[in-house]
Amino acid sequence: MEILKTKPQMQHWSKQKKRESKTICFVPTMGYLHKGHTSLLDKGKPLCDELVLSIFVNPTQFGPKEDLDAYPSDIENDLALAKKAGVTAVFLPNKESIYPKNFQTQINLQHLPQFLCGKFRPVHFGGVATVVAKLFNIVMPDIAIFGQKDYQQLQIIRQLTLDLDFDIKILGGQIIREQDGLAMSSRNAYLTDKQRASAICLSKALNLAKELVVKGEKKAALIQKELQDFIHAHSETAVEYISFCDPATLEKVEQIDAQVLLALAVKVGATRLIDNSLIG
Ligand code: AMP
Repeated sequence: MEILKTKPQMQHWSKQKKRESKTICFVPTMGYLHKGHTSLLDKGKPLCDELVLSIFVNPTQFGPKEDLDAYPSDIENDLALAKKAGVTAVFLPNKESIYPKNFQTQINLQHLPQFLCGKFRPVHFGGVATVVAKLFNIVMPDIAIFGQKDYQQLQIIRQLTLDLDFDIKILGGQIIREQDGLAMSSRNAYLTDKQRASAICLSKALNLAKELVVKGEKKAALIQKELQDFIHAHSETAVEYISFCDPATLEKVEQIDAQVLLALAVKVGATRLIDNSLIG
């Protein structure tokens, strides 16, 4: 497994693989790997000759009051997990390599970032879209894999890939959960024991919504209210949003007649957690 720390090193490696007619599968992450990340690596491994993992905590996707400085990191463990998953190259750039002095370009999508997390994290998806486009140009993959846990991000990357003519197949990986249902996340490490116990309310709320829909409830607003009450019955929780929306456009849905996306963002203590499920 090669560890490449600069853009020229990574580009040189990828160009060499292309010359050898090797295909490249790419999984971008911010590190502190867990089974959600390794599931994406496992999905990618059989699909291409080479498997590239990037670890980069992208500063431009964090708002000024968010957790950039606190973001957890354990590079040694990440590299061990990457090796075990059959990664052939890890791209480990520093901030200056990705954003040299006088960097001034940003990619902003017009529609998809207006919903869900984008409403509460105004700079987030501009930062994500820009860094992913840069990583695509540096790694030059044939396939890139992103988790459905960040459903809006996955949709934004699909759109960006179409809009900017990247010749890359985008795949989604299913949400990997802890045994009790909590979606795995690097940010779960912030939770105290008490908060960790409360945090299962997100996946439980998704299940509750499914039960209500199966019983015949179709009004999104009524289900939202029930879910909000359910979540707030758990200590230290504050709902940021509970949204039923069109799975493709992310526009709000009032009536659950076809398949919809139910997406949640909840603060548990100071930690912001997200989860989602397709329903109906
Ligand atoms: P992050 O390191 O949080 O930026 O995540 C890197 C990639 O892993 C993204 O495509 C995420 O959607 C994906 N991911 C994070 N958590 C999970 C999970 N629990 N299940 C599946 N994919 C995940």
